[in-house]
Amino acid sequence: MTEKVQTVVIGGGIVGCSVLYWLAKLGWTDTLLLERRELTSGSTWHAAGNVTYFGHYSSITKLYVNSVRTYLQAESESGQPVSFHPAGSLRLATTEHELEAYKRLEPLYDEIGVDYAVVGPDRIGELHPLLDVTGLHGAAHTPTDGHVDPTGATHALAKAAQKLGARIKRHTPATDIRRGKSGWVVSTADGEVEADKVVVASSFWAREMLAGLGLNLPLYPLEHHEVITGEVPGLAELGFEVPTVRDPWAPSNTRQERNGFLCGVYESNPKFWAVDGIPADFIEELLPPDMERLEPHLVRVMERLPAFGEAGIKTVNNGPICYTPDGCPLLGPVEGQEGLWLATGFSIGIGTGGGSAEYLAHWMVNGEPEYDLPLVYPSRFSNDLTRERCLELIRQTYAAGYVTPG
Ligand SMILES: Cc1cc2nc3c(=O)[nH]c(=O)nc-3n(C[C@H](O)[C@H](O)[C@H](O)COP(=O)(O)OP(=O)(O)OC[C@H]3O[C@@H](n4cnc5c(N)ncnc54)[C@H](O)[C@@H]3O)c2cc1C
Repeated sequence: MTEKVQTVVIGGGIVGCSVLYWLAKLGWTDTLLLERRELTSGSTWHAAGNVTYFGHYSSITKLYVNSVRTYLQAESESGQPVSFHPAGSLRLATTEHELEAYKRLEPLYDEIGVDYAVVGPDRIGELHPLLDVTGLHGAAHTPTDGHVDPTGATHALAKAAQKLGARIKRHTPATDIRRGKSGWVVSTADGEVEADKVVVASSFWAREMLAGLGLNLPLYPLEHHEVITGEVPGLAELGFEVPTVRDPWAPSNTRQERNGFLCGVYESNPKFWAVDGIPADFIEELLPPDMERLEPHLVRVMERLPAFGEAGIKTVNNGPICYTPDGCPLLGPVEGQEGLWLATGFSIGIGTGGGSAEYLAHWMVNGEPEYDLPLVYPSRFSNDLTRERCLELIRQTYAAGYVTPG
């Protein structure tokens, strides 16, 4: 059976569902999202859900802010909770260089209208009484960001898009994408779908998916750990949720999860996963954790947050995360492939997915982007980038995730 739609979106994670939602909001409802298994079954289901507003580039910060707005909007339109916790964040300044760089960002936040303040150690101690502030130079405080439930947000987006007329087919992998007589043909086990436009939002699966078209997408999955503690002594008694702490010294992010902590670790020597291709039988599963690699980072987390060590580790999740050489997504049209769009390569897909989809949808519907954002355009990479160079750049970018530029 062949069916015709205006736009097919491939991939039902937070990014694909955000794209479907924003296209529908802008009036494009002759759309179909194809998902290989269930919504969120890629990286989205195991993400920590952090949505920070801290960033060194105002254009990317706008994507962060617009993402939270998108999820809250989808929540109110669908009735599906996204569980936004606006506990705020502290980006620690462990050097004078970091502190000065954070101060220089103040006008940027004034410009985009987001609360932001550089605070000293005393104020850090008030905001997060369990943090050892010894040696800290200060912190950038973004009081209105926090975390969402990634699964809740994805379903809210999907439901809100469906209410507007968009369609979703679960358990329907796209098995081939090729050019037809007019537009594109996407094959599935249920038949073919003809479409004017295709949006590929299939994260680390996108590389193999588009290799047949001669495209060499610069993205690969890495292993990424998050550690969840048991009950933290003294946390419940505070009577408020403490802000997320981003510590360039560990480097890590640690937020409150019920009455414990949830800590994401950026390893200095990260490990790639499935670089030769994603196993066909890979489903909603986690990878074996590697405590040896984590240990030096966790020692630092416990020095900064002694209560973390007292609580004891309850769970360690190791999941694949998609990375590009500069850590930014591939968002926009594919040059030389009229009608083929990318929304893939997201390593901070919860933080930036909703806003990125809004940006892409405006571009698709209006024929041009609302504003220039070359940091994310797929055309910034050459199709000739070798695998070795790509992996090396990803390794450096991941390990330098919390390094302050300049
Ligand atoms: C441990 C961990 C913690 C994280 N914490 C955070 C965090 O706090 N904040 C944050 O912003 N990010 C976080 N991330 C990253 C975040 O999970 C990803 O950036 C985000 O989920 C990517 O969303 P996506 O929609 O691009 O991809 P995915 O969620 O992977 O979705 C891609 C979808 O495409 C589908 N698909 C693949 N092939 C096909 C096909 N052929 N046909 C149809 N469908 C297909 C897949 O089944 C999948 O559902 C974390 C990642 C990890 C591993």
